[in-house]
Amino acid sequence: MNRSSIQEKVGINKYEIDEGNSHIHIDQEKCANCVEKSCLYICPAGVYSERNGDIIPEFAACLECGTCRVACANEGLTWFYPRGSFGIIYRQG
Ligand code: SF4
Repeated sequence: MNRSSIQEKVGINKYEIDEGNSHIHIDQEKCANCVEKSCLYICPAGVYSERNGDIIPEFAACLECGTCRVACANEGLTWFYPRGSFGIIYRQG
């Protein structure tokens, strides 16, 4: 049996990017006061980064797992599914 790595499985997915319409919104004021900043570590796709003290979500790479929504202790992010026909298209389950 030929096993694929996680990176290989994620790499074959297709993304329909809703340019200019992020489904992730950040409240920078709340995030600035957050000590944990769990979004930076918990996202399996590495969507979040910190630049000059701001949290930046690269929403186009989102796997739509919802982990960040649950993990954010400060209610600093608002997360919805992308609009219909946008977002990730899984090709291997
Ligand atoms: Fe990352 Fe999952 Fe949140 Fe998308 S929903 S940003 S993949 S943790």
